[in-house]
Amino acid sequence: MAITPLMPVYPRSPVRPVRGEGPYLWGEGGEKYLDFASGIAVNLLGHGHPHVTKAVQEQAAKLVHVSNLYGSPQGEAFAQRLVDLTFADTVFFTNSGAEAVECAIKTARRYHHVHGNKHKFELISFSNAFHGRTLGTISATNQEKMRDGFEPLLPGFTVVEFDNLEAAKAAIGEHTAGFLVEPVQGEGGIRPASMEFMKGLRALADEHDLMLLLDEVQCGVARTGTLYAHEQYGITPDIMATAKGIGGGFPLGACLATEKAAAGMVVGTHGSTYGGNPLAMAAGQAVFDVVANDEFLAQVKATGERLRSALEQMIPNHDAIFEGVRGMGLMLGLKMKTDSRDFVLYLRTRGILTVAAGDNVIRVLPPLNIEEAHIREFVDGLSAAASEYKVSAAA
Ligand SMILES: *Cc1c(COP(=O)(O)O)cnc(C)c1O
Repeated sequence: MAITPLMPVYPRSPVRPVRGEGPYLWGEGGEKYLDFASGIAVNLLGHGHPHVTKAVQEQAAKLVHVSNLYGSPQGEAFAQRLVDLTFADTVFFTNSGAEAVECAIKTARRYHHVHGNKHKFELISFSNAFHGRTLGTISATNQEKMRDGFEPLLPGFTVVEFDNLEAAKAAIGEHTAGFLVEPVQGEGGIRPASMEFMKGLRALADEHDLMLLLDEVQCGVARTGTLYAHEQYGITPDIMATAKGIGGGFPLGACLATEKAAAGMVVGTHGSTYGGNPLAMAAGQAVFDVVANDEFLAQVKATGERLRSALEQMIPNHDAIFEGVRGMGLMLGLKMKTDSRDFVLYLRTRGILTVAAGDNVIRVLPPLNIEEAHIREFVDGLSAAASEYKVSAAA
């Protein structure tokens, strides 16, 4: 048999981690890696964070799972915390980002449905977006590599150019239900939307009674230096998807909504067997215990600025391959003049983990609690790798 037991949908690298501690991973053979990928913005507090580990261990010993048919003191408590800290009035817990986006899409459609506007089902989404791998979420992107061979996709999406407010406005029609957008595109290449764009979408949504759906699966949960990235744009969404970092490595996501937006999400309209089980809630609460305070958020901003300026200082020494740095907080992208995927593979051989993204960008997504020494180790390692990469590429 030629097929591997693990369905071969990933280009899996020779890095085979078996243990982690803080921002480090160790492979099967004892190789050490500096992990500035964080499981793609998931291991928010690094590996084996004592508070998260203890919370998960204690909850696992007490009660792992019960059905959503029963009352959930654990879910109520974490939902209340999210409601207190955000724009939202209500929360649906999921196990992943794509499911959180699916819930956001369903919530938007139901909003118009219960208001007698069944024809308003279409979402305007944006070029190079990434919203997940379900049939619904691949329907919301124009990225061919994710859609190819999966047609027919879910109808009801119009994709227009990201960060182009005029294009978004022009796309509004009688079927439009709302906008679905990442405030900072992750997979698409660490592209923060402009202030004008985000404020403009909010204004258009208000003007036309549309829902503004934010996908903060990657940029949310303190990653950009505020609990959610939209706070830095001075707007609030009607519906938001969050996941990745929220469980600190435990599979957890959530769809947050205002009371108005969730008007259609009544008994029987949605569900999840695992969503919001006690173990997931313990992980989420433990992450929030650490990150949801001004001191921690200020620290993320400061660390992000230090990492960014260290990268900016390094770039002139390697200006044949690096073009610049972009992003917000500790969601940074190093734009390359050469193939970023190839350089990310090379970095792995040097013990440094990052993630490639669209537009030849290297995603730099360290744990949020890294220290000065880790920044130096990363930038020094990157710089040394860049020197030798040039040599090897020229040879
Ligand atoms: C990762 C990601 C998703 C999908 O999350 P999964 O947990 O892989 O389903 C959706 N939206 C954005 C912006 C993401 O970065």
